[in-house]
Amino acid sequence: MAVYINDTCINCGACIDECPVEAIVDEDDNPTGEEIYYVYPDKCVECVDHHDEPACATACPTEGCITWDMPFTAEHKDFFAGANYEDGKNYVMEDADAEMPFHDNISLEDRKNRANVID
Ligand code: SF4
Ligand code: SF4
Repeated sequence: MAVYINDTCINCGACIDECPVEAIVDEDDNPTGEEIYYVYPDKCVECVDHHDEPACATACPTEGCITWDMPFTAEHKDFFAGANYEDGKNYVMEDADAEMPFHDNISLEDRKNRANVID
């Protein structure tokens, strides 16, 4: 990943068309079954080479709804398998072998703590 949409999502739809790589799906297409929008970690590029910051978070009206998540790289794949997540997040991927770009100026601590993308 990437970025993470948490359960404060109000399904407003403001983010979905802002994504340059179609990584976001709505509540009807959320593969986890949760009734909120979902970001595929194997598709999100954190808007690297598209925008200075994640466009979905810029568009989102719900404070704290879109947070950082771990980079979707080989080094951190265990997180997406659920092994290290305390909140039981159920990730679904289409290409588990993908290696996605990420902002290396965002610390792993902030990512693990799911810091807000937009303060
Ligand atoms: S950070 Fe960018 S690429 Fe990732 S889901 Fe948001 S808009 Fe799409
Ligand atoms: S913009 Fe925010 S609140 Fe609206 S659907 Fe996207 S994540 Fe949910």
